[in-house]
Amino acid sequence: MIEQDLLRRFLFEELGVRGEWVKLTHSWQAAKFHQRGSENVQQQLGQALAAVVMLSATVKFTGSMILQAQGDGDIKTLVAQATDQRKIRGLVRGKENVAEGSLETLFGQGRLVLTIESENGQPYQGIVPLRGSNLAAVVQTYFEQSEQLKTRLWLFANATHAVGLLLQELPTPEDHEADWEHIEILANTVTEQELFDLDCEQLLYRLFNEEKVRLFDPEPVEFSCACSRPNIEKTLFAMGRTELEDILKEQDIIEVNCEFCSEQYRFDKIDVENILSQHSNVNTSETRH
Ligand SMILES: [Zn+2]
Repeated sequence: MIEQDLLRRFLFEELGVRGEWVKLTHSWQAAKFHQRGSENVQQQLGQALAAVVMLSATVKFTGSMILQAQGDGDIKTLVAQATDQRKIRGLVRGKENVAEGSLETLFGQGRLVLTIESENGQPYQGIVPLRGSNLAAVVQTYFEQSEQLKTRLWLFANATHAVGLLLQELPTPEDHEADWEHIEILANTVTEQELFDLDCEQLLYRLFNEEKVRLFDPEPVEFSCACSRPNIEKTLFAMGRTELEDILKEQDIIEVNCEFCSEQYRFDKIDVENILSQHSNVNTSETRH
């Protein structure tokens, strides 16, 4: 069986190193379908999606993890999101045709923001400059700076797949410096083609056949957008009566398109009036309690 749309975690128990492997196929194609941009722009999005799926499995949370790259270059914004249920979505905004080049050529001066929106916890946010040869290098810098954990990532995307490999030292009291270096040297021989072509077990055998690796059950990954009419209604309500009425003077319908999945939401004058009255009722009752 060909493994696709799966995340697999593994562990070198005796060496204090954990790893993850991801291959996105249908989920990647579905996410990309709603985005415009030349091949190299799409590749950045694919790499970011592969990264965020793997990162979402390095911490325990219930909610969403968001990897956002922002810059003043040709790509203005890139968002890759994964939930704890491994549901992914992404978007990219900027020029449609972007010249090949380094991260700085693509994004200009920018930063990478990692956010965790947890349902029952404090939101978390970490920021690193968008500097380095590629997104994988930026994420590595992030872990070294904010978590003080040695981390290596390989991220690749083409029209069919977005793939990734992650290795990270475990925060253990024992010193695993030499073990980490050993695993890193073996992993450094991995090629883009191997990540695209091989299943997880094949790849682990190819790289680490003399090591004892514990491989966990595969976790399916799928494209799924969390947008909904009630959420859009909240956004409209937040815009306020004056602005909504101004828009409705120019047009009969307010149309909102989800940037992640292209779903179209339409609101006429009656809908808008309902939103304004319903949400204001909720607000008054909340203040009264
Ligand atoms: Zn959507």
